[in-house]
Amino acid sequence: MDSLKRWFKYFFRDELSIRHKLVNVILGCALMAQIPGFIVTIVVGTSLLGIITQILMAVVIIVVIYLTNRFPESPLPPILIATVGNIFVFPVMYFLCGGYGTGIVIWMLFGAIFTWLLVDAKWAIVISLVNFVLISGCFHIEKAYPEYVSYLATRNDEITDTSVAFVFVTLIFGLIFKYQTRSYESQARVLKENDEKLRKLNEELEEANVRLESASAAKSSFLANMSHEIRTPINAVLGMDEMILRECTDKQILEYANDIDSAGHQLLSLVNDILDFSKIESGKMELHPVEYELFSVMNDCYNMIFMRAKRKDLAFVVENDPNIPAFLYGDEVRIRQIIMNLLTNAVKYTKDGTVKLIIGYERIDADNIRLLISVKDTGIGISEENKKYLFDSFRRLEEKSNRNIEGTGLGLSITRKFTEMMGGTIEVESVLYEGSTFTVAIPQRVADTGVIGHFDERLNKRNLGAGEGHSKAKQENKENFTAPHARILVVDDVKMNLNVVRLLLKNTEAQIDLASSGDECLKYTLIKHYDLILMDHMMPIMDGIQAMHRVKEQADGLNNDTPIVALTANALVGAQEMYIEEGFVSYLSKPVKSTDLEECLLKFLPEEKIEKAE
Ligand code: ADP
Repeated sequence: MDSLKRWFKYFFRDELSIRHKLVNVILGCALMAQIPGFIVTIVVGTSLLGIITQILMAVVIIVVIYLTNRFPESPLPPILIATVGNIFVFPVMYFLCGGYGTGIVIWMLFGAIFTWLLVDAKWAIVISLVNFVLISGCFHIEKAYPEYVSYLATRNDEITDTSVAFVFVTLIFGLIFKYQTRSYESQARVLKENDEKLRKLNEELEEANVRLESASAAKSSFLANMSHEIRTPINAVLGMDEMILRECTDKQILEYANDIDSAGHQLLSLVNDILDFSKIESGKMELHPVEYELFSVMNDCYNMIFMRAKRKDLAFVVENDPNIPAFLYGDEVRIRQIIMNLLTNAVKYTKDGTVKLIIGYERIDADNIRLLISVKDTGIGISEENKKYLFDSFRRLEEKSNRNIEGTGLGLSITRKFTEMMGGTIEVESVLYEGSTFTVAIPQRVADTGVIGHFDERLNKRNLGAGEGHSKAKQENKENFTAPHARILVVDDVKMNLNVVRLLLKNTEAQIDLASSGDECLKYTLIKHYDLILMDHMMPIMDGIQAMHRVKEQADGLNNDTPIVALTANALVGAQEMYIEEGFVSYLSKPVKSTDLEECLLKFLPEEKIEKAE
């Protein structure tokens, strides 16, 4: 009994398709049908050929059963069995087992119907057509040449044979249909169960999604807060340090202050990188295209890199195609960040030699160009096997030999992401110990027909041949002005920040009031008119946005129309748009520089209150 069950399980295992299972059913039944057929043949005493044919049939059935179960993927066994049964076995048996008046006709009908259950429609059509021709052929041959048919001995034998065929064919079809119905029912049950499981899984996923979204929102707000919290003290450190750099004459102290300045900026760029990275990760990074002047971007990068290169005794060269359109339309901030990242790396990973920035372009069409930015260095280079890890986040190469060089391993991954977001590409060519060239190509819209000219010539003109580095160049370019009659209100809940702004604006001689809360700000604005208000955002009780709206709506307010600038440590992407949308006239992010503050004054103070130096 056990071995019977095992056989049954084997012939109906899940791995078999329904057709293969049917083949097993039909062949199993055909094999069983052979037994009484065989007995009838012997008892009734048909020809030796008849007996041999029946034995041959049994062998064929066993072989096909074997093939079907040995190659469950193959479509051939069902086709084979339908073809052999209909086209060879049944026609031969027709003549050997008694012809028209016997059970063979029922078996032929069985074969014809069964073909449709076994094989694909197109095979079933072909086999049925041939079958039809053969069956009618058999009938006609019997009619014309009855001597070809081995008739059974008596009419009784024919009736017995027909009855046996009838019973078996009915039984086989009955079994098949029963089996099919059972299979469909059990499949439907499984489908229903799976449906139920999927529904539950979906519910769980949705719940997980909600949890994930709230976790991601928590992460974003954590980042915004962290950015604010870290930027606030850096603002104080860098602001106060700038005062030392400005006012102190002691060489040693100036050196210390310079170190504080560079470490502070390093910390700041680290915070910025981590913020950018988290934004990119959460898919919230957006581009903010504006019209910009390419020279100004190059000039900023030049100013920022010049001193760093000089400190390492590296030559820093900028070359450009003078025919690049001067004004472009794109995300200026990110373009600058890409160039800065590549230049910073070039300086960091080069001990001696030259760092070169080459800016070129390719025309895409009348309105668009591809901006080509190449940064070339004669530094440590990158080995072939390391190139594939270059753009991985938090991955630093040659960690042992580079351990003295600061970095997080985020710069290039951010650079690549920005480049791709702008529809551009980044490539690197590098030879170990000889140097590297990073090339970025970014499509940009042309905003104006003018061309940029030679960067070097323009820089020299601008710096009046200074070539001494950024501080001096900037100092000389800076517009000197005072605004002794201007009234400015600075609002910030951190006293140190208030002091920083006051001190940074000292040279302007403006009259500055300091308010340490939204409430205090409203008290001041009720009694005094200001030409400009610099407002922090995150303050307890009443934040900067609320305070700004209250000032603008103050009844009998003296400052309803005063320009209010957001001065805040919130440096997240999109912050600027948010502040402008709220009603601020501009946005300055902490740590604020004296030059930015002065520029802001020049822009928003009434002209008559600005006194320019001769
Ligand atoms: P990091 O903050 O470590 O500089 P990056 O993502 O900017 O992070 O760079 C990843 C790694 O790629 C660096 O740690 C360094 O090993 C390698 N690398 C980047 N730029 C250069 C370069 N110009 N020359 C040699 N190696 C470089």
